[in-house]
Amino acid sequence: MSDLLRVANVSKHFGGIKALTDVSFTVRKGEIFGVIGPNGAGKTTLFNALTGLYQPDTGAIDLVGTSLYRRKPHEILKAGFARTFQNIRLFHNMTALENVMVGRHTRTTSGVLAALLHTAHNRKEERDCMAYAQQLLTRVGIGKHTHTLAKNLSYGDQRRLEIARALASEPKLLALDEPAAGMNPNEKNALRDLMVSLREEGLTLMLIEHDVKLVMGICDRLVVLDYGQKIAEGTPDVVRHDPKVIAAYLGGE
Ligand code: ATP
Repeated sequence: MSDLLRVANVSKHFGGIKALTDVSFTVRKGEIFGVIGPNGAGKTTLFNALTGLYQPDTGAIDLVGTSLYRRKPHEILKAGFARTFQNIRLFHNMTALENVMVGRHTRTTSGVLAALLHTAHNRKEERDCMAYAQQLLTRVGIGKHTHTLAKNLSYGDQRRLEIARALASEPKLLALDEPAAGMNPNEKNALRDLMVSLREEGLTLMLIEHDVKLVMGICDRLVVLDYGQKIAEGTPDVVRHDPKVIAAYLGGE
């Protein structure tokens, strides 16, 4: 399996808080790569540093040879790295379909404004975009909610809509920040099946998730953070039996 994302010695401090210190790992093409650790360990900060929301202080970030280090979020998205957020970020007064169409337009243009300005001269492109967005909604299991406003969807469905919108940019790498949070067991099973089928199609996934059963069951490899530092990396079996991980995170499991 070839390397897709190489992260080397990434650090991020907020004043005196060392949110990330010298974090290094490699994500291989076609795997589901987990990021776990206790609350405040630095997981979301890592995603934010990788996807341009925070500027890392030091380090190197390469996606198949392209440096993403300190690049802007839209440049990183265009390079093929999409993400979802721990706190859902949707356009609440737009329908599910429109939210995904905006995600599709960010693939070729610079975002929402361009999506809104699309006019009659490219109606065919618009129809294709709509059909593709509809397919994605069905794919993530909310096809029947096409015309529902995002704010009226259940929490679990909003999470699925975020995934559909991120997929609309046809990324090489998709990072999901706690996608199962607030989902019931049936929704979690559907989410797991979706992640597995995306991997089967060749997509590479990164996953922050507190549901240990879900994350251990689905990830090919994981990295474990504690106080901003990597304390372990490897397959679920290796990580599960690592004494440092048991002490910092899995002790209560
Ligand atoms: P959780 O599992 O609770 O979501 P996490 O592992 O994602 O936690 P982060 O949210 O990355 O942890 O936070 C890591 C540390 O960095 C925490 O101490 C947090 O308070 C701090 N931190 C994160 N973002 C900021 C910020 N913008 N300003 C100051 N401190 C921050």
